[in-house]
Amino acid sequence: MFIKIISREIPATILYEDEELIAFEDIAPHAPCHFLVVPKKQIKTINEINENEAYLIGLMIFRAKEIVSKKGYANSGYRLVMNCNEDAGQTVGHIHLHVLAGRKLSWPPG
Ligand code: 5GP
Repeated sequence: MFIKIISREIPATILYEDEELIAFEDIAPHAPCHFLVVPKKQIKTINEINENEAYLIGLMIFRAKEIVSKKGYANSGYRLVMNCNEDAGQTVGHIHLHVLAGRKLSWPPG
């Protein structure tokens, strides 16, 4: 499904794009700021990442930091989350980093 956002078959509010990554607003936000950072390569879950792809995770976190800082949440704080499989609540089979900010986030997660 995120492939269709990358190919512009379905619309999204795109915040950033380069050859390897895309970032866009989550369609059902859980915080005033909630966007996703997604590698263009479709890797199903974190379990499927191989060593050659591991650099993508660093790029995703770096880009998340850049975008969330530009939005003004660097000092107030934010949360980065990657869900893996059913018990964690993963619903889209294309790895993605959630970036949440703009309210107090509870911990530990439910
Ligand atoms: P997961 O539950 O897999 O960790 O996260 C999937 C996220 O993708 C959810 O927060 C959901 O709201 C978001 N999402 C699902 N479909 C779409 C879509 O078509 N467009 C956008 N922008 N976000 C989506």
